[in-house]
Amino acid sequence: MKLILLGPPGAGKGTQAEVLTKQFGIETISTGVMLRAAMREGTELGKLAKQYIDEGKLVPDDVVVGIVKDRLSQDDCKNGFILDGFPRTIAQAEALTASGVEIDKVLSLEVDDEVIVERLTGRRECKACGTPYHIKNKPVPANGKCVCGGEIIQRADDNEETIRNRIKVYHEQTEPIKEYYESQGKVVSVDSSGSVDQTNAAVSKALGLVK
Ligand code: AMP
Repeated sequence: MKLILLGPPGAGKGTQAEVLTKQFGIETISTGVMLRAAMREGTELGKLAKQYIDEGKLVPDDVVVGIVKDRLSQDDCKNGFILDGFPRTIAQAEALTASGVEIDKVLSLEVDDEVIVERLTGRRECKACGTPYHIKNKPVPANGKCVCGGEIIQRADDNEETIRNRIKVYHEQTEPIKEYYESQGKVVSVDSSGSVDQTNAAVSKALGLVK
């Protein structure tokens, strides 16, 4: 299965990816997680990405396409993968196609903008492994640490001003991707405005994992 998770920030891509990765036994490739790791390590890539991420803007296409191509060429992606947060522009989708990657399905998670703002302001994340948490919907374990033992933090770009900018960027630059893949008959849409369990049930049905 070569699956793209499409949807605005806060639609639950990371949360659904966490479940699907186990169900399918394939890796999730999250460009956001990779870029934040580079930022923490202070690499050249991280320094470049920070300028864009902190303002809720997209990192340039050539940079992101480069890291995704490298990652997809690794052995653990041979039997399939889940892409979370990539492609985010038509140019990235075209670059993926041009690199010879045949996507099977695009799962589009649909949710209203105001629900997103509420979700993202309450979102927390493991600094080490990227596992998502939420102050209301998926509370941090009692010891305050992630299941992997990592520290749980609030992302710097999960503040309201940056969130609204990321939503605007999504509508302008990422949403057109849906049409790109719809024309190839690959899109399945799921309402993700409900709880994690409700969305997960709808996702399983949409992907044909349950009847
Ligand atoms: P995410 O964790 O997917 O919400 O991504 C966080 C931030 O990383 C985004 O707001 C962008 O600044 C950057 N980013 C992640 N993926 C991409 C991508 N495919 N193209 C450009 N920028 C990206």
